[in-house]
Amino acid sequence: MKHNKLISWIIPCFNEQEVLETCIKRIIDFSSYSSHYNWEFIFVDDGSKDNTRDIIRSYNLQDDRVKLVGLSRNFGHQYAVQAGLNNAYGDAAIVIDADLQDPPEIAKEMISQWEKGFDVISGRRIERVSETFFKKISASCFYRMLNLLAEINIPLDTGDFRLIDRKVIDALKQMPEKGRFIRGLVSWTGFKQTQIKYKREPRLAGETKYSLKKMIVFALEGLTAFSSRPL
Ligand code: UDP
Ligand code: MG
Repeated sequence: MKHNKLISWIIPCFNEQEVLETCIKRIIDFSSYSSHYNWEFIFVDDGSKDNTRDIIRSYNLQDDRVKLVGLSRNFGHQYAVQAGLNNAYGDAAIVIDADLQDPPEIAKEMISQWEKGFDVISGRRIERVSETFFKKISASCFYRMLNLLAEINIPLDTGDFRLIDRKVIDALKQMPEKGRFIRGLVSWTGFKQTQIKYKREPRLAGETKYSLKKMIVFALEGLTAFSSRPL
């Protein structure tokens, strides 16, 4: 008998108690669309100070496909994603934010592209509903500047919402860099890539966990890892 493939959802969470239950339910509900796959739901608690960890634990007690990776302190989004990937057993992983800005239902198209042989299927934001003017402008400038400066081509307007094949997960695990800019590393590995356009929704509840300081650190890590020009 042929075994079902396992798909791992990776959901980094930092103080997400306002959205987390809705997020868990929506991803689990969606995943029942196909019985051809087995699923695991890896929630990475990136050192939250609220009830995030307890909520994940309580779902884990009801459904052992829900897994908790608990980090000792707040390491930041990119590290949380990597910690999730390090603990994933899937034939593929889908990285998604906890605030439901990226609709989990898009994963259906990602999975069908994966079945066609793509190793990396990235969500490309065609519209950002109700994000602040500052966020839109800074994000748009950032991607365009990065592509001008960087030695690799990072697809425009993609974040970390993507499906990656096991080959790519293993390649990322081999990269010991301390600074993490996952979307750059994924591009750099040169696997077969495609994109799926989607509309980025507003955050379901709570506030952004990306402070201005975190955004600047993130932009600098991206730039310095993939371009020597600022030097
Ligand atoms: N996040 C995290 N650690 C952090 C900051 C954010 O794990 O230090 C998670 C957060 O819980 C969310 C995702 O990363 O699931 C994206 O963060 P957020 O939605 O706040 O960023 P934005 O969409 O505003 O750029
Ligand atoms: Mg968000």
